[in-house]
Amino acid sequence: MTTTTVPTQGREVLLNVEMLRKYFPIERGFFKRVVGHVRAVDDVSFHIYRGETVGLVGETGCGKTTCGMTVLRGLPVTAGKVEFRFRDLGNVDVTRIEGDQLKHYRREAQMIFQDPYSSLNPRMTVREIVAEPLVINRIGSAREQEERVAHMMKIVGLDKRYLRRYPHAFSGGQRQRISIARALVVNPSFLVADEPTSALDVSIQAQILNLMMELQEQFGLTYLFISHNLSVVKYMAHRVGIMYLGRLAEIGEKAAIFEAPRHPYTQALMRAIPIADPDQPSGLQSAPGEIGNPANPPPGCAFHPRCDRRMEICSQVRPELVQVGAEHDVACHLYGEPTTLSDR
Ligand code: SF4
Repeated sequence: MTTTTVPTQGREVLLNVEMLRKYFPIERGFFKRVVGHVRAVDDVSFHIYRGETVGLVGETGCGKTTCGMTVLRGLPVTAGKVEFRFRDLGNVDVTRIEGDQLKHYRREAQMIFQDPYSSLNPRMTVREIVAEPLVINRIGSAREQEERVAHMMKIVGLDKRYLRRYPHAFSGGQRQRISIARALVVNPSFLVADEPTSALDVSIQAQILNLMMELQEQFGLTYLFISHNLSVVKYMAHRVGIMYLGRLAEIGEKAAIFEAPRHPYTQALMRAIPIADPDQPSGLQSAPGEIGNPANPPPGCAFHPRCDRRMEICSQVRPELVQVGAEHDVACHLYGEPTTLSDR
């Protein structure tokens, strides 16, 4: 059984993900016979409160981007539930909606992509790029769209004189500001930001992160912030989820995850954060070995081939999330009710 933290303190849950699964079929031969599945996201559960930022962290290939895309309905789900609290409709499982309701969700939930160089159409002017969601959703008259686009440029710190220019005329940071303006132009309440600063110079990264935090404050935005960079997540997130091979290994308040991580994988990630002190050892002591194959994950705990605390049960029984503190869940046999092999 999966035990997730019950939402507390009267805060409103904007997004509730339950046992989300996204498998990609592996096809072989002329008749494309399905011979297996890549389990990119495998029974992931978490919630996000309105106005907060949840960081999703893990190594390349852990499923964090697929999780974000699936939550946004950019990919169809294999199984599970994604409940979103609409401002006018209340809670709706968005994995089951189509037509106008899906269009409505796509206005409420937007994405900021990793690479501002490839995510902007080079043949469109900035005005056309930012206005595109309004045009597609037929929101406002041409004049209202014009005004809204000019307003969004001001909000993200760009001069409206740039509206007639094409993306190639801008720096990476300016392009990411254009991406943010495009995402916000339809007044969403929820944004998935997938490595939004990893393609930018370090000097520009802080500007974009600060802009995102200011916009969150100004518009009450809610973020799912996906990154492999723990320092960036520590700066941005209120709560942090650690993913390993398609599953959540640990999720909790930022302070708990960074100061008292419980899962051996989270502990290994924390040891891998470089320390800005020449007298300290480099700290690059991540878990040994490679992340497993999501098409054929190790049995039991997927992390067991790399875990220095593994026990007999770890290679045989898959650990489920158990609550170890307020808003703190861990999937590891070291915690929770004692489990024996006979419990399987
Ligand atoms: Fe390590 Fe076992 Fe915990 Fe997995 S379940 S992280 S192998 S101790």
